[in-house]
Amino acid sequence: MEKNVLFYIILIILVVQYLVHQYLEYLNAKRFKSTLPPELADVFDEDEYQKSQQYKRTNYKFGVISDGFSLVLTICFLVFGGFEWVDHFTRSITEDSIPMALMFFGIIMLGSAILGLPFSYYRTFVIEEEYGFNKTTKSTFLSDKIKGGILTIILGGGILMLFMLFYKSTGPNFWIYAWIAVGIFILFINLFYSRLIVPLFNKQTPLEDGSLKSSIENYAKKVGFELQNIFVIDGSKRSTKANAYFSGFGKEKRITLFDTLINDLSEDEIVAVLAHEVGHYKRKHIIVNLVVSLLTTGLTLFILSLFINHPEISLAIGVSTPSFHAALVGFALLYSPISELTGLIMNYISRKFEFQADDFAKNTFAAPPLVSSLKKLSKKSLSNLTPHPAYVFVHYSHPPLVERIRNLKA
Ligand SMILES: [Zn+2]
Repeated sequence: MEKNVLFYIILIILVVQYLVHQYLEYLNAKRFKSTLPPELADVFDEDEYQKSQQYKRTNYKFGVISDGFSLVLTICFLVFGGFEWVDHFTRSITEDSIPMALMFFGIIMLGSAILGLPFSYYRTFVIEEEYGFNKTTKSTFLSDKIKGGILTIILGGGILMLFMLFYKSTGPNFWIYAWIAVGIFILFINLFYSRLIVPLFNKQTPLEDGSLKSSIENYAKKVGFELQNIFVIDGSKRSTKANAYFSGFGKEKRITLFDTLINDLSEDEIVAVLAHEVGHYKRKHIIVNLVVSLLTTGLTLFILSLFINHPEISLAIGVSTPSFHAALVGFALLYSPISELTGLIMNYISRKFEFQADDFAKNTFAAPPLVSSLKKLSKKSLSNLTPHPAYVFVHYSHPPLVERIRNLKA
């Protein structure tokens, strides 16, 4: 197999990424036993705290093994010419570049999905089960995987096909058309996610009339938030963990509450969580996130267009016959340090937004019920109360609980 200098750069990127991430995990794990800040003393009782420490240690060990396994596998695949082999195989079946690319990605993704299955199974049915989170049945687990796979084939395959058609007809300018297509796709998914995607996996019902609904409506009216759609989703089908989220905009905007949230929180606490979500909308976070993701997509596609034509990028993953699909994989691997960087920036912005949404809830509703709901939710999910600041900086899209509580009480 032919190799070039980019091939070795990819190996270095993979190993360095693994080491950096494992080091952050290690730093975080070292702090599992640290004493709790006084604000958080009442989140867990002693037994539960022990249980949460154990849960984190279990996940830490699992992560070291599963990430290590996937690193070794990826490196072996590269070093022993796996991509070249798959490329040869698809070329023996078709000479047309689009079906070839679809088959190339199909084989690689199917392979990695099959190899990842035991890990996903273990996480759900051993770890989450042991700590009492898991409510997923084996048949739900299986049908989730199948539906997810079909969705990936349709959406991922469709986008890949579009990219290649643009590339064939417009050459290096394809990125502009690809950007427009992805932009429309992102907008479409944002608008219709709850209507089209969620029903494939969950049941959603409008929140029934009653005191909770009227409290929510009273609050929405007070802050001038037009709200017609409040839905309850059967999150309890999979997990005991609770959540609420906001989706869509304009007439399509809706708030979705997990049934687990409704069962675990008081009415005031639910309105406080909702006020936080309304804060995201009112402070234009939804729009900003959308614009930022459109801009980063455009930048990535533009840089892709500069490199996609170079045979070296295909050769970087050991594929000797240059092609769009091989260059796409090579590019994705070489670009991953930059996507990590944009991920860091997005997380940083997201943490700022969380404080702003908390402030909104504090100013338009009240701080104490939000504080108590955050504590309950952290307790329910056995979340880490003492994460390492470096770990937070890289991985957290939400500020740690203690910082949110301090901000709410300030
Ligand atoms: Zn939020």
